[in-house]
Amino acid sequence: MKLAIATNNAGKVKEFSRILAPLGIEARSMKELGVSLEVEETGATFEENAYLKAKALFDVLHTPVVADDSGIEVDALGGRPGVYTARYAGEHATDEENIDKLLADLKDVPSGQRTARFVCALCVILSEQEHFFLRGACEGEIGFARAGEGGFGYDPVFYVGERSFAQLDAGEKDAVSHRGYALRLLKEELQKRIG
Ligand code: IMP
Repeated sequence: MKLAIATNNAGKVKEFSRILAPLGIEARSMKELGVSLEVEETGATFEENAYLKAKALFDVLHTPVVADDSGIEVDALGGRPGVYTARYAGEHATDEENIDKLLADLKDVPSGQRTARFVCALCVILSEQEHFFLRGACEGEIGFARAGEGGFGYDPVFYVGERSFAQLDAGEKDAVSHRGYALRLLKEELQKRIG
């Protein structure tokens, strides 16, 4: 089946495509579909924001869509930045600025208390009448410095064990990541619903 992905984030598009392709699901980005949308993320939860993004694209295409809203919850920051992860250092902050702020905010937090999780909420809209949500999470720790060249976003400072997400190859990241987990649930759910 074909599924349009409601994101402008090239890093996410890459992960969706490589995880869904072997499952027989062809992911098509908004760029490939020639759709340009900026959705205001006004929701209080990852699920609400995923729905807003999915609905905006569904209203243009009227074909099956999936949207992802994701972010980091840092325990020492009371779960922040959460839904504000992309805007942590300001409305149009770059990944570098966001990471710098996170490292600065955690500078006095010792190892062992820097636990965090990446969360990925997916909203799938199959038709006007049918939508559903899935959630994946990945537990880790925020490091004291960046490591690695791969991935995107906060990957260089999110550690699972000894290595940051940016030090994992694509297959290794997908096997443990929040998005990999949520997309495997997506496959199961699609099989149940449409065979
Ligand atoms: P969203 O696009 O509004 O869902 O924002 C997601 C935020 O979380 C962005 O700042 C992303 O860079 C970050 N993010 C989500 N998933 C990942 C990931 O797998 N690695 C690194 N950063 C991520």
